[in-house]
Amino acid sequence: MYVDRDGTLNPDLHYLADAARLEVYRGVAEGLRLLRAHGYLVVCVTNQSGIERGFYTEDEVARIHARLNEILEREGTRVDAFYYCPHAPEAGCACRKPGVGLFEQAERDLAIDRAGSALVGDRSLDIEAGTRLGLFTVLVPSRGHEREIARELGERQLAADVVAPSFRAAACHILAHG
Ligand SMILES: [Mg+2]
Ligand SMILES: [Zn+2]
Repeated sequence: MYVDRDGTLNPDLHYLADAARLEVYRGVAEGLRLLRAHGYLVVCVTNQSGIERGFYTEDEVARIHARLNEILEREGTRVDAFYYCPHAPEAGCACRKPGVGLFEQAERDLAIDRAGSALVGDRSLDIEAGTRLGLFTVLVPSRGHEREIARELGERQLAADVVAPSFRAAACHILAHG
């Protein structure tokens, strides 16, 4: 199953460069534990245009992902793989969400069964990518951005399969959906 990073696993601090500032939302570790205990591989797919924009380097992104797993491992879980798009939106690449390039790459690398997979994200571009792939989509809207996200989804005539109040709740919906 796929998870977005900023705003889904951790508060979105906008172009976070310093791994020491990373925090993980409550309920994320428990949700990931449940999913992994049921055999799901957890793949994080994230847009990191701050690389191309020069706000941080690929090394700094790698440190943030290592730090994220260090925090999660203390709670008995982890993200199994990270995939990121380093490009700015203007680049028109295939890997920036809502493009599905990174998902297809992960499917090839990790032999993921798309039909049994799911996606959790906090923004319309996550739901758009998941919908294109036919995944079971769960929206956990970023706090304070609920209206903006609902408007974006409305404009794109998209809807998540489920809207959940927390990552833990999202995990339960995925397990119930099977
Ligand atoms: Mg996000
Ligand atoms: Zn890209």
